[in-house]
Amino acid sequence: MSTTDCLFCRIVAGEIPATVLRETRTTLAFRDIDPKAPVHVLVIPKEHYADVATLAEGDPGLAAEVLATAAAVAEEEGLLGDGFRLLFNTGTYGGQEVFHVHAHLLGGAPLGPMLTSNLS
Ligand code: 5GP
Ligand code: ZN
Repeated sequence: MSTTDCLFCRIVAGEIPATVLRETRTTLAFRDIDPKAPVHVLVIPKEHYADVATLAEGDPGLAAEVLATAAAVAEEEGLLGDGFRLLFNTGTYGGQEVFHVHAHLLGGAPLGPMLTSNLS
């Protein structure tokens, strides 16, 4: 996928605006445009990887940097005391919609069960 085809690559390039909370040399954290919790932040590697499995295989160090940035944002957003959820939707069954790997950092209120009980 070329940079211009990928929404999150375009955010990295500054072509699409985002509310950036933290930027490192290799990662970016910005608020989700449609928050599902009082705090809902997306944490991405700047380099394009489609999903967390591809990232972990291709560059495990970069995967660790994504986690470190997520943890730093969790602290900055005051989530460490009451806790938070960090998740990677992956592929069709995981409900992934944007195919540039991103961690969802969710918190600020009790988040309820991990899954809705609509599995058949
Ligand atoms: P996924 O379903 O792929 O795990 O999550 C994609 C997330 O990207 C969704 O939570 C959605 O609200 C968010 N999103 C989609 N388009 C934009 C955008 O243009 N800007 C921001 N900040 N978030 C977006
Ligand atoms: Zn991308």
